[in-house]
Amino acid sequence: MSKKNKWVHSGAIAKIVKEGCDCPYCGSADVDYTYTRFNEKSGGFYAWCNDCKHAVHARAIPPEDPNLKVVDFKDLSLPEGLKF
Ligand SMILES: [Zn+2]
Repeated sequence: MSKKNKWVHSGAIAKIVKEGCDCPYCGSADVDYTYTRFNEKSGGFYAWCNDCKHAVHARAIPPEDPNLKVVDFKDLSLPEGLKF
């Protein structure tokens, strides 16, 4: 499994939302994410490392988590310099 896939395989997204994860590239725990909803069943999930700036994005159904941070697509803003 590639490092990138470690962030987006099934279960990983729910885990990042729930408890975060360590960056698969540099090991930093400073990983953040955002989820933007396209409609009820689909949205875009972005996760990135604030240290090494590696990032992933994936189309995903909304993770069922009361703490899910959701932004409108028009309000989506990501840190500069991310490496997708
Ligand atoms: Zn990193």
